[in-house]
Amino acid sequence: MTIDTTVPEIDALLQLAELDAQAPSLPPEKHRSHREAARRRVPRELLDRYQKLLDVGRRPAIVAIERGGCSGCHVRLPTMLEYKARRSPAIHSCPHCHRMLYAPEFHLKTAHSPISAPVEKAKAANAKALKARNTLGRAIPESAIGSQPGAVQK
Ligand SMILES: [Zn+2]
Repeated sequence: MTIDTTVPEIDALLQLAELDAQAPSLPPEKHRSHREAARRRVPRELLDRYQKLLDVGRRPAIVAIERGGCSGCHVRLPTMLEYKARRSPAIHSCPHCHRMLYAPEFHLKTAHSPISAPVEKAKAANAKALKARNTLGRAIPESAIGSQPGAVQK
């Protein structure tokens, strides 16, 4: 399913999605007024669809098309859908997870989806480093026992 719309309308919806994603970081009144301002700029049809997705627990409800796939569920999209998405601004729907899809090309300012992908990446790198350190910490004393106790390097 495709809903034809305009870039500013999609931008407003992305703004709304971003506000919904980071709800705890703003004071409640400020958050509500920002949210209302964004909502006012989103057409009813898109809002309804967005709300429905949130209601069934799809968060984020709107994601970017990345490398020809849905960045929400990572399923490859039909070529026709991708082609249409790149030609004109519209909201498409992922045939697999039904999230709302948009082509990031039309939204250079908000090219990155509201999901904190870099944070996740940093977390993964941290976990890896921690694991490496732990292995190292265990490996040194074990191999040092009985051989050359004085030669252990810190
Ligand atoms: Zn999907």
